[in-house]
Amino acid sequence: MSKNAENLLAAFQHFFPNAKAIGSYVGGELIEGAGEAIQLFDAATGEESLSYKDGGAAVVEQAAAAAERAQKQWWALTHAARGRVMFEIAREIRKEAENIARLESLGSGKPIRDCRGEAAKVAEMFEYYGGWADKFYGEVIPVPTSHLNYTRREPAGTVLQITPWNAPVFTCGWQVAPAIAMGNAVLLKPSELTPTSSIIIGMLCERAGAPRGLVNVLAGLGLTVAQSAIAHKAVKKVVFVGSPATGARIAEAAAKRVLPCVLELGGKSANIIFGDADLKRAALTAQAAIFAGAGQSCVAGSRLLVQRNVYDEFVSMVAAGAKKIKVGDPLDDKTEVGPINNRRQYEHVMSMIDKGVAAGATLASGSQERSIAGYFVSPTVLAGVTNEMEVAREEIFGPVVAAIPFDTEDEAIAIANDTDFGLAGAVWTTDVGRSHRVAAQVNAGTFWVNGYKTINVASPFGGYGLSGYGRSSGVEALYEYTQTKSVWVETAKEPPTAFGYL
Ligand code: NAD
Repeated sequence: MSKNAENLLAAFQHFFPNAKAIGSYVGGELIEGAGEAIQLFDAATGEESLSYKDGGAAVVEQAAAAAERAQKQWWALTHAARGRVMFEIAREIRKEAENIARLESLGSGKPIRDCRGEAAKVAEMFEYYGGWADKFYGEVIPVPTSHLNYTRREPAGTVLQITPWNAPVFTCGWQVAPAIAMGNAVLLKPSELTPTSSIIIGMLCERAGAPRGLVNVLAGLGLTVAQSAIAHKAVKKVVFVGSPATGARIAEAAAKRVLPCVLELGGKSANIIFGDADLKRAALTAQAAIFAGAGQSCVAGSRLLVQRNVYDEFVSMVAAGAKKIKVGDPLDDKTEVGPINNRRQYEHVMSMIDKGVAAGATLASGSQERSIAGYFVSPTVLAGVTNEMEVAREEIFGPVVAAIPFDTEDEAIAIANDTDFGLAGAVWTTDVGRSHRVAAQVNAGTFWVNGYKTINVASPFGGYGLSGYGRSSGVEALYEYTQTKSVWVETAKEPPTAFGYL
């Protein structure tokens, strides 16, 4: 057994002392799959780590039954009682935050300090939505008849959530918390590459008092587990976080059952720097925007649009900073950038750097050399990029920024919008009027002025265009996780009898 496999199993056994392998968490039990073996790898060394068996359709069947039972119990509680359980879940997560962070780092290759931050954010998500549990309700509508007409906000029932590998525990909390706050049960299918931290959150929900089977975490592949779940009659809604290609396949499968979907997909966000900006701060933030999480972030500032009068100076500042970033062992407290999560993604990132150079971009920082051990990519700044190049059009999902010059405000907006994506964007300028003009005209679900990557559970998040539809976070997520029922109550002494609409 490799060192990573030993450590990962030990970190998992902290939560499940009798576990011999990773399994699915269903109806309050850890269940080993019976399907094909899924081999995990240590991103920091490239060596084999643990392997576990796919849960397949069998685990979906068990989880669907457990979820239906649990959802009835959960919805029978008062709204306030559900909120109290959610505050308990947050407390459990805080108590275990360090153990969750270590498990996440070992399982995903993310730097431990990022994992600590994300575990803390997951606790906040349960608190935030726990607060909403008894504060999101229907309305009384002033109709022109003798009726009392009111609306109820009811849960969808059992929701399926399918998540990617780049921020596993964060994405789990992000979707599970609003879903259960609104009275739903959950089937969560995390990426087959990073299942462990989500399994722990499912277990902690029950440790905190949620009914067994309220949050089921299904370990296995998209084609086996996720597709079986989409086809299962218990599932009433699908929330997907991942790539546009997979999102389209999921929406297609869901459409066959007329299942509503939320799709949180990729991005190719423009970080626009005008010559009048605070260049020092903009350069530091531009590095964080693309290099944090090794660029494996849907909102990464992957296109750096810089006004031509400061282009050379600014790109040099970002490149100089990139060279100083500490890349290395994910478990080292000082590591700022860890490896790419998996070999396939690593090969994709390296091939995109090669394509950029072949198309005429120059490497202001970074290298085309392959890493000797592990999936490490040096923070890379590609200079002299045009928006037509593949590196400016395709999502790289790695620590690679494409720096593109522009001359005027109109040109910056045109380049920013010349993309199929629309997840995020930013503008850096000291001209207040311009900052609002640009914010209004860039097609993106999230936009920052003189900043980047501030996100919060209270603020809505989602995409335009190929970046998806529906919203997560904030109050808007509560609409996604409920459906509206309009109830008409006749109040007249001698009501007219309707033949047709009243
Ligand atoms: P992916 O689309 O390959 O996989 C995501 C999930 O879908 C995994 O759980 C996977 O098992 C499942 N899946 C794969 N094929 C499937 C199929 N045919 N049917 C059903 N399920 C299937 O994405 P990834 O490579 O894991 O993650 C990277 C992508 O996620 C990037 O595009 C990134 O931008 C995006 N992302 C978006 C957001 C957002 O909020 N917009 C957040 C994080 C990541």
